[in-house]
Amino acid sequence: MDLRFTDAEAAFREEVRAFIRDRLPADTRERLRLGHAPRKEDTVAWQRILNAKGWAAYSWPKEHGGPGWSAVQRMIFLEENLLAPAPELLSFNITMIGPVLIQFGTPAQKARFLARAANLDDWWCQGFSEPGAGSDLASLKTSAKREGDEYVVNGQKIWTSTAHNADWIFALVRTNPQAAKRQEGISFLLIDMKTPGITVRPIISIDGSHHLNEVFFDDVRVPVEQRVGEENRGWDVAKFLLGNERTGIARLGKSRERVDFAKQIARETRAGGRALIEDEGFRQRVARLETEIKALELTQLRVVSAGGKRADGKPDPFSSILKIKGTELQQAATELVMDAAGPLAMPAWARELAALGGEPPPNEPVPGPDWAARAAVPYLFLRAASIYGGSNEIQKNILTKAVLGL
Ligand SMILES: Cc1cc2nc3c(=O)[nH]c(=O)nc-3n(C[C@H](O)[C@H](O)[C@H](O)COP(=O)(O)OP(=O)(O)OC[C@H]3O[C@@H](n4cnc5c(N)ncnc54)[C@H](O)[C@@H]3O)c2cc1C
Repeated sequence: MDLRFTDAEAAFREEVRAFIRDRLPADTRERLRLGHAPRKEDTVAWQRILNAKGWAAYSWPKEHGGPGWSAVQRMIFLEENLLAPAPELLSFNITMIGPVLIQFGTPAQKARFLARAANLDDWWCQGFSEPGAGSDLASLKTSAKREGDEYVVNGQKIWTSTAHNADWIFALVRTNPQAAKRQEGISFLLIDMKTPGITVRPIISIDGSHHLNEVFFDDVRVPVEQRVGEENRGWDVAKFLLGNERTGIARLGKSRERVDFAKQIARETRAGGRALIEDEGFRQRVARLETEIKALELTQLRVVSAGGKRADGKPDPFSSILKIKGTELQQAATELVMDAAGPLAMPAWARELAALGGEPPPNEPVPGPDWAARAAVPYLFLRAASIYGGSNEIQKNILTKAVLGL
């Protein structure tokens, strides 16, 4: 297999890079570069710019508004977006509910939701996990009882990312508690977050941010026409969603962007009487990380060039390697930036703690640059990267079965 990019792919990379350079708002880029998470309005604005160009629904078939790119082009596009750094497209819309509706939706559901999802007119969130149903998702308990043309939903979801921003949630619910197999009694519903009976309660994570939520359903009435797929066949829909489009799973562009950023600040930061970039230990860490990123890039290209699927259409188990190693690299890259900041990484963290009700906020100004004060925040948030999207232990189980045959 030839693992070099073709001339056409290199030209495509240049086209994407130039578009992002010209169109990404400078203040958004700068905020992200300094380690801030994108705000809701940043994500919406950028997705709409990409959508106007025909690139937001980058993985959808052309007849549904996709650009008709190859898997390698999709990978290049995602990498360039992260490298910029630009806000990521809302995955709930683009890689989750969009493809699900294209595959399983009724014509009315496609007409109602697809274009709005691409343009981020509707912000979607994912209601799968529950207390007691994470890795073992099939044990979920949120119930939906049929009453005429409606389901009445009761129960609780947890770890629901960005539910506080969301207009709609796609949720797995139990429609037949008596089914012989747990997987057979589940349905997939689209629920308007404004429906009476829904309560969203924030979960503040270790970095002090509000990204996660609990979502409670108390007698929430959902029209039957908002079910995707057949009743009790929601597991098929969920399996498709979880196995679909894993091209960007390693998020290598993000790791590379953070290592580049660490190198840049290490040239400006002094440690032990010289620039940090001159420090042998620091240089070794950079070299090791860059080598590992390069190695994973090659693995990624191999998986992506083969279409990301096996001959039988199931997800390539090697994408589990991309998930495991990709998240380890993201964690190591943000750790590198934090270590470059040294003690200056402390103040924001102390302030975030204070915001949670700990010590009163310090009155002194932050004694260092903004990037340093922010450095601990992505480091702490990305502790979760080896848990979400299917924990790394579960990915290892997949590999031991599918690749090692154990
Ligand atoms: C930041 C973040 C965002 C998230 N966003 C969403 C979201 O938007 N929507 C949503 O529905 N969910 C979301 N989740 C939930 C996520 O999918 C679950 O956390 C994940 O599936 C793990 O489930 P759990 O937390 O219940 O842990 P558990 O499944 O209870 O696992 C606990 C530990 O045991 C290990 N473990 C479990 N089973 C096995 C096994 N068979 N073999 C070996 N080890 C095992 C796990 O790897 C983990 O280390 C999010 C989670 C995080 C942290």
